[in-house]
Amino acid sequence: MIPVFDGHNDVALRLFLQDKGDPVEEFLNGTEQGHIDLPRARAGGLVGGLFALYVPSPERLDLAALSGETYDIPLPAPMDCEAAQTVVETELALIKSVAQRSDGAVSICTSTTDIRAARDRGSLAVVVHLEGADAIDADLAYLETLYDAGLRSLGPVWSRPTIFGHGVPLRFPGSPDTGPGLTDAGKRLIKACNRLGIMIDLSHLNEQGFWDVASLSDAPLVATHSNAHAISPVPRNLTDRQLDAIRESDGIVGLNFATAFLRPDGQMRADTDIGLLIRHLDYLIERLGDTRVAIGSDFDGALIPEAIGSAQKLPVLFDLLAQHGYDAALFEKIAFENWMRILLRAID
Ligand code: ZN
Repeated sequence: MIPVFDGHNDVALRLFLQDKGDPVEEFLNGTEQGHIDLPRARAGGLVGGLFALYVPSPERLDLAALSGETYDIPLPAPMDCEAAQTVVETELALIKSVAQRSDGAVSICTSTTDIRAARDRGSLAVVVHLEGADAIDADLAYLETLYDAGLRSLGPVWSRPTIFGHGVPLRFPGSPDTGPGLTDAGKRLIKACNRLGIMIDLSHLNEQGFWDVASLSDAPLVATHSNAHAISPVPRNLTDRQLDAIRESDGIVGLNFATAFLRPDGQMRADTDIGLLIRHLDYLIERLGDTRVAIGSDFDGALIPEAIGSAQKLPVLFDLLAQHGYDAALFEKIAFENWMRILLRAID
């Protein structure tokens, strides 16, 4: 079994949205819901990952449109900061409760030393990520509060705008070059994250925001869950110019399993060929080098190919990659060590 550290999941959102039963207990003992719980993580070799705190908009996104030949889903309105804080606190409490009630089987980690120690004792390593800084105020006081509570990774935006910047819409086909970059508050946020030791995630930012972070940040450039725009031309994927900048900064891209970001036709379909995961991985490795590519599944946040279906079937991907010629040394890098190299520089 190959130990996998994963750059993105939305377990916290799934637990938050569950309206019956005890979502924490079900996560620990196993459930039919979603893609990750503790038994399925163990069975599939998932040893840790970035667990996103994400605030859903009150208006529903028309995700059915993602099965159309072209689509352009309007971005939701910005969130109220205090309302977003309430959701973030609830999701963080759920994740902490998972760790507290796990009898050591799940650990909140704030350094690579913590992550390696958790892996060695068989405990699922949780690094807390904030997907969209909607809950953070312009004077950044709440950023410090979240840091003290364990936050070590942040995206300035999920796709809807924040006071810090602008994200990309769900659109096909489309470029990530969709408008203005970081605001002045966004530039202060980047500097504050560098100072505190919070990794900055570029995955949902538009292209100008990406270049603003590239010029301001003193950390390697990181896209936790994005794919190659040259194969699947959606705004959420990275253009060759962006990939080149990530390589030059010695950064990283986490391969996203979301079918809409894998397929050349941009469609969200469960019957997607998992050969497309290999096609993106090959492309990313060719462009970035094998120390700058990793996994960023989007488990519990996206429709993934049914041939994988959940964290339990991660070995299916590695079996396929082995048949394709990937060897043990490469698996160790893309499944675990590449994330450790980046996190060591960003948060330790
Ligand atoms: Zn995302």
